[in-house]
Amino acid sequence: MSIAETTEAGRDFIRDIVQADLDSGKHAKVATRFPPEPNGYLHIGHAKSICLNFGIAQEFGGTCNLRFDDTNPTKEEQEYIDAIEADVRWLGFEWSNLHFASDYFETLYGWAEQLIKAGKAYIDDQNQEEMRVNRGTLTEPGKNSPFRERSVDENLDLFRRMRAGEFPNGARVLRAKIDMSSGNINLRDPVLYRILHAHHPRTGTEWKIYPSYDYAHGQSDAIEGITHSICTLEFEDHRPLYDWFLENLPVPSRPRQYEFARLNMTYTLLSKRVLNGLVKQGFVSGWDDPRMPTISGLRRRGVPPEALREFIRRIGVAKANSVVDYGMFEFAVREALNRTAQRRMAVLKPLKIVIENYPEGQSEQLEAVNHPDDEAAGTRKITFGRELYVEQDDFMENPPKKFFRLTPGAEVRLRYAYFVTCREVVKNAAGEVVELRCTYDPATKGGNAPDGRKVKATLHWVSAADSVEAEVRVYNQLFSAVAPDATDFAAGINPQSLEVIADARVEPSLAEMNTGEAIQFERQGYFCRDKDSQPGKPVFNRTVGLRDTWAKVAGT
Ligand code: ATP
Ligand code: MG
Repeated sequence: MSIAETTEAGRDFIRDIVQADLDSGKHAKVATRFPPEPNGYLHIGHAKSICLNFGIAQEFGGTCNLRFDDTNPTKEEQEYIDAIEADVRWLGFEWSNLHFASDYFETLYGWAEQLIKAGKAYIDDQNQEEMRVNRGTLTEPGKNSPFRERSVDENLDLFRRMRAGEFPNGARVLRAKIDMSSGNINLRDPVLYRILHAHHPRTGTEWKIYPSYDYAHGQSDAIEGITHSICTLEFEDHRPLYDWFLENLPVPSRPRQYEFARLNMTYTLLSKRVLNGLVKQGFVSGWDDPRMPTISGLRRRGVPPEALREFIRRIGVAKANSVVDYGMFEFAVREALNRTAQRRMAVLKPLKIVIENYPEGQSEQLEAVNHPDDEAAGTRKITFGRELYVEQDDFMENPPKKFFRLTPGAEVRLRYAYFVTCREVVKNAAGEVVELRCTYDPATKGGNAPDGRKVKATLHWVSAADSVEAEVRVYNQLFSAVAPDATDFAAGINPQSLEVIADARVEPSLAEMNTGEAIQFERQGYFCRDKDSQPGKPVFNRTVGLRDTWAKVAGT
């Protein structure tokens, strides 16, 4: 998808439905929810769902709840609950109410007993394999369970004993009695409850049975008075079941489910299962590794929340699945940071230059602009002296034709400083260039020659005596392929996804920055200080380069 094709007015088919429901008086107020399962950290795909649900509530004067879908205790942890709350807030949203599906366990249980009493649910003793075989396929109908015609009394008795913990895991389940020959497999007597002896982060060991997603979700929506229950396309086939429960239970309200296309991105896998695998198998340093597509990873990498929101706004909300170019995300990040990030100079791979005609033991303060388009950002003083560092890549001893930076005999401008000319190349015993002997023209102070002569390059630099050593972490795509294989994600990892530069030199003011604060290293890209920084040894993450070099390399 290109920028031009995106929704300009910020409208989409879901917002149109909400608007129509408000106009017709079907709903006086819109109520949405964001319903994560706390079994991992949120990723950029969840950001799409968050912006949609919370965004609709904001735009239409309604409410949006944060509801943890905590029905699967073996995979859920308090750490994930805390991280999800922090991520939603960081994205800029606040929930109207905080809920947990587990708060409804007693109500859901009571409703399940009502289904049993109405002859609409039964206890099945088949094992998982038998149930799978008897469920049928897309082309063949299923077969009724031999336990389907149990009496209400027997079903009630067994269900209560399941709750009391009398049976081991997997011994039996509660199923809705719908239609084993339905064309929709979701309606072939779906499971409502399974036995699970496990510790739940909130209810502890109180429950020995847990509701299925399908049974818990719609009823939770109804309890909370959700009007528009927005979920991703893979739940489209579940909608008849969602409605079946609402029709057969004394729910206090009638929500409706709407489906939209999930976010997929090139070079990325947006699945908690895969992201969990990357963390557990040590391919990344944690859920917040800056290479991860998690919200916490993006935050640590230096992505501002407004860039993420703007990206989500641009991709829009559609009914058909598609894959978004990762470059489009970087574009939004670059755009936001270009506006807000102050400029500083940092030399990632230092090459020392000595200005031979600059007096020894002397230095001077020069004025540097903090942001070219924002005068209010002001200026700062930088130290110029006899010994400086420039970028190794900005020098070539035997340059090709189009190389206009430092070469023997060539004159270039040092940003905010003077014109300098390389006079001599100093090498070590191995023949490597270790130092350049240069001269400067004192008349070019500030960067212009009074005689009007021009130079073809302006280089960034730092003072050797005054700069601070820093570690810089440059990130590339975590996966090598445009469409990584989720079933074998380990094989697809890009071996060059992290480049650590241990001895960069940065302006001293950069050592004092706050963690996460965005900055542009002139000519290099956008960076932020990482939490791994030590006193006197800051660590910087590269958020994004200045230009879209990745697209060129990858040929996308
Ligand atoms: P995953 O597949 O990564 O495990 P999930 O769907 O199991 O994700 P949930 O915690 O159940 O994760 O998701 C919470 C909400 O976020 C759901 O409404 C889900 O539809 C939505 N969501 C998850 N992934 C995406 C995505 N890639 N794009 C848009 N919405 C998503
Ligand atoms: Mg899910």
